Amino acid sequence: MAVLVTPLVFIGCPKEDPPARPRATVSSSARPINPSPPVAFDGERAMDHAKKQIEFGPRPPDTQQLSRTRAYIVNELKSYGLSVSLDEFTSGTPQGEKKMANIVAEIPGETKTLVLITSHYDTKFYQDMTFVGANDPAASVGTLMEIGRVLGSRKEKPKVTYRLVFFDGEEAFCEGWSQCGDAESPDNTYGSRHYVSQLRARNELESTRAMILLDMMGYKNLELGRDETSTKWLQNIVWQTGRELGYSKVFVDRQEGVGGDDHEPFLRAGIDAVDIIQLTSYPHWHRADDTIDKVSAQSMKIVGDTVLASLPKVAEYVIKNKAQPASKPQQIQE
Ligand SMILES: [Zn+2]
Repeated sequence: MAVLVTPLVFIGCPKEDPPARPRATVSSSARPINPSPPVAFDGERAMDHAKKQIEFGPRPPDTQQLSRTRAYIVNELKSYGLSVSLDEFTSGTPQGEKKMANIVAEIPGETKTLVLITSHYDTKFYQDMTFVGANDPAASVGTLMEIGRVLGSRKEKPKVTYRLVFFDGEEAFCEGWSQCGDAESPDNTYGSRHYVSQLRARNELESTRAMILLDMMGYKNLELGRDETSTKWLQNIVWQTGRELGYSKVFVDRQEGVGGDDHEPFLRAGIDAVDIIQLTSYPHWHRADDTIDKVSAQSMKIVGDTVLASLPKVAEYVIKNKAQPASKPQQIQE
């Protein structure tokens, strides 16, 4: 990235070049005003990540396909300069014991106050259907990876520490979410429930002040309603930011009914959380035709840009409201 100017000088035939061209002098001695321009969210990159995941095939927990996907995500995140770790565990499921692993990448901030940005990366298991999950979840994974590249490129430390968490085992093994399991041990959200238990074990629950969940936000006809269970102040920041960026037709006020998604274990643990999801108006949900032609680079960029622009406001809010327990969500003015 730093080598932008110098090599251009020597393009062409050296013999025909006059010996002392002014451009050569300029390029070797001039200092660019901004040596590292801010890296922008690239929708096409996010799209490439989505395509790559689909190439691996259906990706349920404890399969070779998911393990290849995991290696791909980890390698990409590392190449952005992020420190990456795996949160490995075993879950008892209706299909027996399954090995799972959440992927965690950290962007250290000035404080240890944590803001999480998350997505699940497994696809739902189907016995008789090839389900590749372009919108659920390849698009949200691609968006989160690209958010990681942008955050990793920044020289200045953020006010709070950001963690990107890619959850394993969000999807149920049984076809219906309530078909197996019960309130005590549901057949879904294995990775997010485990991650909350890890935060508790490491005494990080209190310092985790916000959780932003991306799930099914890449549809080419993107329209995001407000999930009723999400924390109001956090949802308001994201929705207002999206509208300020010109996406008022995307961030709409209709209610979105979401039950049993990865933000819920966090809400139950007293952590404020928002789910960015298009469920009821996505006609290809959990169908064989949830394929790459249903998602768009532009939708991923809309959500990626909105989340990135929301982060400093979320950080400011949690710092200002430090004395407030996270379990008492604050209302902010519309
Ligand atoms: Zn799903």
